[in-house]
Amino acid sequence: MAGMSGYPIIILKEGAKRDVGREAQHKNITAARAVAEAVRTTLGPRGMDKMLVDSNGDVVVTNDGATVLWELDIEHPVAKMIVEVARAQDDEVGDGTTTAVVLAGELLKKAEELLDKGVHPTTIVQGYKTAEAKASEILESMSVEVTRDNREVLRKIAMTAMTGKGIEAMKEKLADIVVDAALAIEDNGKVDVENRVKIVKITGGSLADTELVHGIVLELERLNPEMPRRVENARIALLDATLELKKLGTDAKITISEVEGLRNFKEGEKKVLEAQVEALAKAGANVVLCQKGIGVAASHFLAKHNMLAARRVKDEDMKMLALATGARIIGDPMQASSQDLGHARVVEDRKIKKDKHMIFIEGCRDPKAVTIVVHGGSEVFLDEMERALNDALMVVGDVLSYRKIVPGGGAPEVEVAERMREYAATLSGREQLAVKAFADAVEVIPRTLAENAGLDPIDAIVALRAKHGEGHKAYGVNVLNGGTADMLDGGVVEPLKVKLQAVKSAAEVATMILRVDDVIAAKREELKPKPGQSPH
Ligand code: ADP
Repeated sequence: MAGMSGYPIIILKEGAKRDVGREAQHKNITAARAVAEAVRTTLGPRGMDKMLVDSNGDVVVTNDGATVLWELDIEHPVAKMIVEVARAQDDEVGDGTTTAVVLAGELLKKAEELLDKGVHPTTIVQGYKTAEAKASEILESMSVEVTRDNREVLRKIAMTAMTGKGIEAMKEKLADIVVDAALAIEDNGKVDVENRVKIVKITGGSLADTELVHGIVLELERLNPEMPRRVENARIALLDATLELKKLGTDAKITISEVEGLRNFKEGEKKVLEAQVEALAKAGANVVLCQKGIGVAASHFLAKHNMLAARRVKDEDMKMLALATGARIIGDPMQASSQDLGHARVVEDRKIKKDKHMIFIEGCRDPKAVTIVVHGGSEVFLDEMERALNDALMVVGDVLSYRKIVPGGGAPEVEVAERMREYAATLSGREQLAVKAFADAVEVIPRTLAENAGLDPIDAIVALRAKHGEGHKAYGVNVLNGGTADMLDGGVVEPLKVKLQAVKSAAEVATMILRVDDVIAAKREELKPKPGQSPH
């Protein structure tokens, strides 16, 4: 670069790379589209799976676009932005990640066509913003209200979210489990799946054994075989205290010189433990679940009182146990009272397989946290099931919170495209071009659904446009038999929230990428191998 005086002025460190203007835009758009392309074939119930192998050789087989993106080791900054969008979509609403990413890719593709025609990026950004607002309006207007009592619709929502995950035969049962779980934990319209649904995976057995436990399952064993294996009508103490003798290591605070003194001290400590266990028993507890340690002596006293106990219960399990059983976590066992105790119909230590026990705390009355125990042949399969169940729980939660649904199968996208093109015609100037580009881009969803189902995408779009032109708003791609079908009748439904969020996320990231016309990248530090390590 030459300065005014003719001397070059260098403002970047040596080795930095810089792309400016159209070149930068083109590279960024290409990177974003490559990411979208990577997940496009997973979209919809007929989408294909991807097998991903990481550098450790661990395998993930998934149909979930979001998972594909997490697992890809992505370098390009713009590609990373797209992955972030998927993550945000997943966190916000739990589904629609592939849709958001595919749509972002298509919005950028259409934008590039406009850039080539000389439309300024700012005009495109403005037009896309207008279009996004219009899309939300159209989606709202075609949505249908649902109430909590509309169980059938909630089941359909769960099933639509789980399609394509290779569980067709079990979909009905799993949908029931998901709906019951979401209804159970709903609290004032809020469905906190992350903190209130525990998913426990058991390899072996079949998916058909999967069950909803109205309580919590701990991956622990009871402390001592002398304790009862099963307690009915359980009154549960949740303890956040240690029931152990103080250890007398070299750094012990108490120094005792005589052997007698040591014995006395230990006896005294035991007495304290005994009193603590007695206090729990007096409060009425017959099950003690402790977040910290329980020593041999305390375990013996607990068994003597015929209590079932477990130690080192995880922090998140303690919180869920409190929500499920209605217990209050006790800090000082001496202060325990019957009001602190939680309830469950049964607490049972079950042997799951060789060397593996679990404690089931079940039959809780009105539990505000529940567990889904999933069975399956392999860990890879169980992980995919966990993702499917999570997505389904989230979407049912979305509907319980926002109470509106739209038909799936590309119907909302076709409707948005049709109405948006009409709207574009009312605009003037170049903004019209951008709004129309947005409308055309949205059709990538039904087109891809058709393509992934082995249908002719052009025929599908033409047929769908005709139906929507006649006012049939719920028509989408019939992925099973070809052609088009009413998605509401067919039970293919999605939360309005998921669609709104997908369009919003896609538009946001596309416009963010379009606004960049200068990419300055610092020189990357070479990774130096540690001494003694080969560079490869
Ligand atoms: P995402 O991550 O975007 O949710 P999916 O792979 O789950 O991606 O695909 C969701 C799309 O598949 C939605 O547009 C949804 O309406 C559609 N879909 C799901 N089930 C069906 C079905 N039975 N028939 C037609 N479309 C369906």
